[in-house]
Amino acid sequence: APPVQKYEYQAEVSRLMDLIVNSLYSNKEVFLRELISNASDALDKLRFLSVTQPDLMKEAADLDIRIQTDKDNGIITITDTGIGMTQQELVDCLGTIAQSGTAKFLKALKDSKDAGGDNNLIGQFGVGFYSAFLVAERVAVSTKSPKSDKQYVWEGEANSSSYSIREETDPEKFIPRGTRLTLYLKRDEKGFAHPERIQKLVKNYSQFVSFPIYTWQEKGYTKEVEVDEDPAEAKNDEQGEKAEKKRKTKTVVEKYWDWELTNETQPIWLRNPKEVTTEEYNEFYKKTFNEYLEPLASSHFTTEGEVEFRSILYVPAVAPMGKEDIVNPKTKNIRLYVKRVFISDDFDGELFPRYLSFVKGVVDSNDLPLNVSREILQESRIVRIMRKRLVRKAFDMILGISMSDNRDDYDKFWENFGKHLKLGCIEDRDNHKRIAPLLRFFSSQSEQDMISLDEYVENMKPDQKDIYYVASDSVTSAKNTPFLERLIEKQLEVLYLVDPIDEVAIQNLKSYKEKNFVDISKEDLDLGDKNEEKEKVMKQEFGPTCDWIKNRLGDKVASVQISNRLSSSPCVLVSGKFGWSANMERLMKAQTT
Ligand code: ADP
Ligand code: MG
Repeated sequence: APPVQKYEYQAEVSRLMDLIVNSLYSNKEVFLRELISNASDALDKLRFLSVTQPDLMKEAADLDIRIQTDKDNGIITITDTGIGMTQQELVDCLGTIAQSGTAKFLKALKDSKDAGGDNNLIGQFGVGFYSAFLVAERVAVSTKSPKSDKQYVWEGEANSSSYSIREETDPEKFIPRGTRLTLYLKRDEKGFAHPERIQKLVKNYSQFVSFPIYTWQEKGYTKEVEVDEDPAEAKNDEQGEKAEKKRKTKTVVEKYWDWELTNETQPIWLRNPKEVTTEEYNEFYKKTFNEYLEPLASSHFTTEGEVEFRSILYVPAVAPMGKEDIVNPKTKNIRLYVKRVFISDDFDGELFPRYLSFVKGVVDSNDLPLNVSREILQESRIVRIMRKRLVRKAFDMILGISMSDNRDDYDKFWENFGKHLKLGCIEDRDNHKRIAPLLRFFSSQSEQDMISLDEYVENMKPDQKDIYYVASDSVTSAKNTPFLERLIEKQLEVLYLVDPIDEVAIQNLKSYKEKNFVDISKEDLDLGDKNEEKEKVMKQEFGPTCDWIKNRLGDKVASVQISNRLSSSPCVLVSGKFGWSANMERLMKAQTT
């Protein structure tokens, strides 16, 4: 027999296994969801590769998952005809943690511990392969990759820091391609090996798996069998005139075992939106993107005509953690399918502008070639049209949140993704009209709750032409700026731009509903109340004072002027009309030092 090689888990794996077993004890059945989702991923990978390498399919044409149970011995086997693993992949995938799903779990676990620890929440996370040890004391993974002509068996035990790998040599156990997991259940968990229990769990957890899942079920059919009459009875039957009467029929149930299709495989986006409930959309979202919070909104639509595609989009309830998101999104948020075949979740950048990279969803196109690559996507006219439609739908969805009766929803949205929309003001001129109504700011008349530009415009004075703003680093310092005095006196509302990106965003917008944005800290602020007579008198009286001050300050200021914009402060420093605002200057300084 070929040698059995022993390996030690990477330290994190051992720790993770401990964590899983100790935090999920009340939610053990998630193991099945995890193992089925791995099988489904493996089938997706194979189907994708086989588009360009049809040979990959030749060992086994069917792409499916089969689950068999042996209740007497407490054994479950899960077999897929997916991509399988080579010997090296077994070491890399099942001996180390490099997987995003698992990393996310660890983070959630930490967060929830910090927040007092909610184990149920963790139960909703993708915890991966090691969840098998929630129920199994021993796991064998026998797997055959098309890249290798040998089949290998990985074996591990619960509470052990090592695992082994050997070559499969028993021809009885050969599989043409893919992976067979055998779970030897712990004594107390053998109940999971009941066929009806597995059937129920599969129905529950695999609603959205797009490959057929078969479970091995006992079936029965009834049949009529003829039985000979009891001889004693026959005797009493006098002479037995009628021969047929001596024979009776009886109904018996014939039992046998067979594979039974246990899930529905039609993808949810192919269904009629009228027939899908919000709960189903949310479930699909949580399962597909490994999320534990419900999305803020979803949108399911089909486009026909010039390009044909179907999509379900979602706005998540929280922004992803970490810094990389906005500038360099590697989000895997959009799953691209071509004619129902999963192609990749790496094309977000081709289908959405980066400032909308927080939108999640699936897109299934009928027009793109199956062997689509990034280059094809970037050149494609079809993709340009798709992108436009997707962006428009995303905005409709966000607008929907902003109009919801529940103000909290939009507050949540704004807190998480406001920055993204502001980035959109800078990067996507074509969609200014869609972005602007979604922006929110504090103002001199609303320091607690942010207002929209529409609310600002409604609140404008009859003869007010412009939208006033002042940029600062906080509401407190904005409301103490001397520039405000005259405007407050005249009851003109001023937007407080307190986020560093606000000012650039507003300058890119330039105007809203034909009203220009005007920085009240700039030199030539005109509040429409010029009084030339008065100015002349002032100039005569204070001209020499100005000259004197300019003389004393020299190059430190560009000029010293009389102004009508203050009411109680004696003087104020303003920026030149074409120069940076003081706030911008502060930002630039912060960037260069
Ligand atoms: P994740 O699914 O988030 O990547 P898992 O812990 O569930 O993390 O799985 C780890 C890795 O093991 C997978 O990424 C995959 O490469 C490999 N794997 C697990 N199950 C299978 C399978 N049935 N077929 C092929 N590869 C698998
Ligand atoms: Mg997984």
